[in-house]
Amino acid sequence: MIRVNRGQPPDGFNVRSTALRRKFLAARRHDPDISASKFWASVRHSLRADANELSRRCYHKCAYCESHMRHVSYPHIEHYRPKGQRRFERLMFVWDNWLLSCGVCNDEKWTEFPQINGQPALLDPAVDVPEQHFGFRRNIIFELSDRGKATIQLVCSIRRDDKTVSCGDMSETGKPSDSPRTRRGRRHKAENCHTGGEPS
Ligand SMILES: [Zn+2]
Repeated sequence: MIRVNRGQPPDGFNVRSTALRRKFLAARRHDPDISASKFWASVRHSLRADANELSRRCYHKCAYCESHMRHVSYPHIEHYRPKGQRRFERLMFVWDNWLLSCGVCNDEKWTEFPQINGQPALLDPAVDVPEQHFGFRRNIIFELSDRGKATIQLVCSIRRDDKTVSCGDMSETGKPSDSPRTRRGRRHKAENCHTGGEPS
């Protein structure tokens, strides 16, 4: 996980996001069953420039596993508070809820957003200081806090020899196990969160 400073929204972002929020509410009125993810998939192309800027400000690296986008997958606009939960749908077009992530981390996180003592279990790389919650022994990550532990289990992945290994799925021997979360993450393809192509 890397510290992210996404800065202020790009020029015109608030106008675009407000229009999209209104469009989503209208779509929901027309079809009460339409999901945020389905709506997102239908409009994400209009956010390509904003996705490019987000990618640039995140150094084109996944905020969770630090993989460079060009090496692992299409970049995804990751919603820190997942739009797949109804209570967070209103944050779908909020700049401060966006992170850049690879498809693997996005798949692993999916729509989970647990709490620990009233605060998000998942570390926010734009707010929290990762070094206070993680340590490394060689290339094995270990937790320094309950939130660090939860983050490892939710999303924090490391990559070895071009294979993705979820730290939360590591056995004591260092071999990855195929946890229910990982299997589920592979089944669900992040509900079309990706930006639809690599930002140029
Ligand atoms: Zn990642």
